[in-house]
Amino acid sequence: MTNSQAGRDLDTSRPHSARMYDYYLGGKDHFEVDKQAAEAVAGAYPGIFVCARENRAFMHRATRILAQEYGIRQWLDVGTGIPTEPNLHQVAQSVVPEARVVYADNDPLVLKYAERLMRSTPQGRTTYIEADVNDPESLLTAVAASEVLDFDRPVALSLNALMHFITDAQDPYGIVGRLLDALPTGSALALSHCTPDFDPATWDKVTAIYTDAGTPVQFRAQKDVARFFAGLDLIDPGVSVGHRWRPAAHGSDGAEPTDAQVSLWTGVGIKR
Ligand code: SAH
Repeated sequence: MTNSQAGRDLDTSRPHSARMYDYYLGGKDHFEVDKQAAEAVAGAYPGIFVCARENRAFMHRATRILAQEYGIRQWLDVGTGIPTEPNLHQVAQSVVPEARVVYADNDPLVLKYAERLMRSTPQGRTTYIEADVNDPESLLTAVAASEVLDFDRPVALSLNALMHFITDAQDPYGIVGRLLDALPTGSALALSHCTPDFDPATWDKVTAIYTDAGTPVQFRAQKDVARFFAGLDLIDPGVSVGHRWRPAAHGSDGAEPTDAQVSLWTGVGIKR
């Protein structure tokens, strides 16, 4: 991609979710305007840093478990975000070197760094496409055109911290249903989603900050997050708070985050 394309698309006058998330994760790929908005969120909800970290940790565990226990060799990761090590393909390829991953995001800044997502193992393959989940048909067409995934074999659809940016007016359940329809039996959905369930007053403030910054959001209750898995077999432990989904050790001091800090519903379902 050329600089002129980047210049055309990169709006640095407004905060953007991918760059705010980069700030929460301690990254360097954001602008002052993103930092200010992210600090406003952290002022209302100091748990945001824990939430972001636990969200990545869920992605790592879900990816590993899908590879090790469910035979998944291919992933479609939509709403990838600015690259953060380890990226999904690095986790997957550490288990199965031949793993294939297609990444998709609609933020031009992610495209700018996409080269970092393409450092595949020689046995595997990765690629990046710029696509909007609000147009699942075009997204699927672009995925097919990249010829990285074999749609006759199971694919894990990974939608982490994405669907709360899709309000009910945008038909989020229809979108996820159309993406899953394109995948064969044995495929999976791994999804994480922020929730107001443990601290509604705080999440009202977070919603207002994102909305005022020009990013519509809809943080959902557990039952509404569970609806994304309709028709799938949810694997244990079902839709759980991020750090309770197949937890690994939480550090030697034994400190475990609270549900309110994490404020993230997570789950993995299999298409039968
Ligand atoms: N999945 C990553 C990043 C989450 S941040 C993780 O869980 O760690 C949310 C990402 O979704 C951002 O990169 C943002 O640009 C992207 N996103 C938001 N709306 C989108 C849309 N309509 N289509 C595609 N990506 C979108």
